[in-house]
Amino acid sequence: MALGNLSAPTTREASSALMRQTFIAPMLLPVCCVCGLIRDEAGSSPDRERWVTPRTYRTTHGVNPADFPLTHTYCLKCFTKAQETTRQYFRDIGMSP
Ligand SMILES: [Zn+2]
Repeated sequence: MALGNLSAPTTREASSALMRQTFIAPMLLPVCCVCGLIRDEAGSSPDRERWVTPRTYRTTHGVNPADFPLTHTYCLKCFTKAQETTRQYFRDIGMSP
């Protein structure tokens, strides 16, 4: 099979496009539905999540978060808060979760 030159970038446009693609954008951007922070999965260590503002995300990666489909989640802070609220709610109505 001769796959040789099929996908080799020959133009300057192609190679500069390749340079820009060193940051691999996620298919879905996880965004906190409470405070609106974005989980930055690139460059963060697996045991420590990094949550940034859309502006910071744009500055860091050179992409506009608004261009990506968003998935809503909770950041660590809001998740903890939501958990406490839920616990409090169940305490108030006399049930344990
Ligand atoms: Zn949050």
